[in-house]
Amino acid sequence: MSVVDEGLKANESYAKNFTLGGLPMPPARKLAILACMDARLTVEQVLGLKTGEAHIIRNAGGIATEDAVRSLIISHHLLGTKEFVVINHTDCGMLTFKDEELRAKLRDQTHAAAVAPARFYAFSDLEANVREQVQKIRSHPWIPSQIPVRGFIYDVKTGKLNEVRVA
Ligand SMILES: [Zn+2]
Repeated sequence: MSVVDEGLKANESYAKNFTLGGLPMPPARKLAILACMDARLTVEQVLGLKTGEAHIIRNAGGIATEDAVRSLIISHHLLGTKEFVVINHTDCGMLTFKDEELRAKLRDQTHAAAVAPARFYAFSDLEANVREQVQKIRSHPWIPSQIPVRGFIYDVKTGKLNEVRVA
């Protein structure tokens, strides 16, 4: 059985016991989170969130890319979220390569160039990366300055969130 088929089997019992059909669309806790996609980081568990309580936007590195910012703008303006959180984590895969190395490797393997993605957003300084994403979000003209945007590093060894101070 493929992993997807295993998932479909699990979904059968999930749907059988499903009780969340009445949840409203806007997140109950008015919170939006931008986090790395790392498989060891279960954002809901880390922050004690339940289904329906927050928007969770994830990508490699927890980067405030154009698409992540698009989601945050929709989250606030159309669905009423009022606090944003950025979560990166220790031992992130994005610390293990350089954009240009990966680009060259893929070019060699595929014998093809590609316009997109323009960047992979690999980084070498975890704290600086969190700060950069928080600042990118805070400075966006369509994200009101009253929205608190806080940054954290999740420690994959301890389960603890450590806040990164952003000036
Ligand atoms: Zn990561």
